[in-house]
Amino acid sequence: MNHRNVLPGELRTALAEVRQVYLDLAQRPIQRNCLRRTECCQFKLTGRSPYLTKGEALVAAKAFRATGRKSLPENADGSCPMLQQESGSCLIYEDRPFGCRTHFCAPAGGPIPRREVLDLIRRLEDVDRTLNGSGPRPLQNAVADALGEIVRAIDR
Ligand code: SF4
Repeated sequence: MNHRNVLPGELRTALAEVRQVYLDLAQRPIQRNCLRRTECCQFKLTGRSPYLTKGEALVAAKAFRATGRKSLPENADGSCPMLQQESGSCLIYEDRPFGCRTHFCAPAGGPIPRREVLDLIRRLEDVDRTLNGSGPRPLQNAVADALGEIVRAIDR
């Protein structure tokens, strides 16, 4: 497929829209209370991991890069690469992906029904298309590629 280049201004607008989606989600009258127990970050244990659109992956990768790290670690316990092993906390909590916010964690209230956030999902999909993404992808792959893009852009 032939993609045109994304202009810097378009990229900024796209990432701002992803963050706005996160803010709009937080305004919804949906009872959820993430206690940062990080049970949903244990991918190997749960057998599930979030899928990210490209905009979400870039927002997460930028936050991860801001911690001074350049590449994703592979945690021996199969947990999310952004779960810091020493502290047991998410390195990018404020910029965590949509799936981490609508998560499947039972103590936080269980998954939010898709129909309640479908409009927000559509907005993330629109951003994905703007950024020449290929739809939602597993967190590890999506963020690793986004991180590569960011590091290459910095090194250019
Ligand atoms: S990004 Fe953060 S909140 Fe989401 S699964 Fe990874 S460590 Fe957990």
